[in-house]
Amino acid sequence: MPHDPTAGGYRDENVEALSQGQRRQGLAPIRGAPIDSGEVSAMRALVYHGAGRKQWADVPMPEIKDARDAIVRVDAVTICGTDLHILKGDVPAVTPGRILGHEAVGTVESVGAGVGTVKAGQRVLISCITSCGTCRFCREGAYGQCLGGGGWILGHRIDGTQAEYVRVPFADTSVHALPDGVPNESALLLADILPTSYEVGVLNGHVMPGDVVAIIGAGPVGLAAVMTARLFSPRHILVVDPASPRLDAAKRFGADLVARSEQEARDLASDVTDGLGVDVAIEAVGIPETFELCAALVRPGGRVANVGVHGRPVTLHLEDLWIRNVTITTGLVDTRTTPTLLQMVDSGQLTADGLITHRFGLGEMLDGYDVFSQASDSGALKVALFRTD
Ligand code: NAD
Ligand code: ZN
Ligand code: ZN
Repeated sequence: MPHDPTAGGYRDENVEALSQGQRRQGLAPIRGAPIDSGEVSAMRALVYHGAGRKQWADVPMPEIKDARDAIVRVDAVTICGTDLHILKGDVPAVTPGRILGHEAVGTVESVGAGVGTVKAGQRVLISCITSCGTCRFCREGAYGQCLGGGGWILGHRIDGTQAEYVRVPFADTSVHALPDGVPNESALLLADILPTSYEVGVLNGHVMPGDVVAIIGAGPVGLAAVMTARLFSPRHILVVDPASPRLDAAKRFGADLVARSEQEARDLASDVTDGLGVDVAIEAVGIPETFELCAALVRPGGRVANVGVHGRPVTLHLEDLWIRNVTITTGLVDTRTTPTLLQMVDSGQLTADGLITHRFGLGEMLDGYDVFSQASDSGALKVALFRTD
């Protein structure tokens, strides 16, 4: 899900004070935190307790509340930059007591009476976007804009996936049955990162064969944009990021040109396009400078696809752009391409291997957060946590 790229570096001091043993056992006591360890049907989950406070805690098991719900046992889950953003207290819709997480793979435990296509025992992908399936926007495939109670709700408005079990509303239209050939680790990336970069970056930007594509930002979203842009055989993929390890990753994923600075990016873009500019510029950072760089790099008639989430106003240089026929797109991921991406991963046409750099047991959730939030030291791209029992 969208997040503020400046959110990195978050560190929970309460958690820091705990011993490794406590953390491994998930016994992290946080002052004033409710623990329901007396509950007969309890499970462990990552609970948000307000800005700067999180806990891997005992909480009640989720229950079916609506006939369209499913309860899913979480087998693999990941952490998103959005979760770090929430933990800074910057997403007020997330209230204390909320279980975080919106990307997971699991096994269906039980379903409500109104669920038709999803069955207990089935291995499913839990998408970051939930869809009611019937509202005007869901009928158009714009699930991110769902008016019927879906959209981005998991780990936001309702309890999420960083838990042993999760309740998923509108199960028929919100989970995806997984083919046997797609391992949990590959499927995890289909919950958010791959559809985001593909839909909001590559498809919105109309990447075409022979294009020169610039991707600004080489975090998980920018790197996934490299992978999915390649599906269209572009002539060059230029990736811009100040962090050298991220540029090395971009090269591994298929970028043939990399730049650490704006000037380097302008020079390279000019060199390979005879001074015209790139066909498509994908913004995958979310700060004014990088949007403006996209607008500066793109050729007349080219496309700027903004993926990054912006927390500050951005200057739109219409005085330069109006005469150059530039198209600018924005968007929240809908995950309407998830079935296609799933087929491509299953057939081997798309491989996301390498995006997950660190693996943990589910009970090591706090270690996973530490590594992910210290990406510049740990080299983490995505971390994955797996059920171990
Ligand atoms: P990230 O923070 O992991 O990566 C951002 C990258 O940008 C980092 O590698 C950083 O070094 C680089 N960067 C920072 N300043 C830069 C600059 N001036 N020029 C070039 N690169 C620079 O983020 P991510 O998880 O890859 O996500 C990228 C963006 O996509 C975020 O803004 C996120 O909120 C957004 N997002 C949007 C959607 C959507 O639906 N539109 C969904 C998910 C994520
Ligand atoms: Zn996310
Ligand atoms: Zn809907």
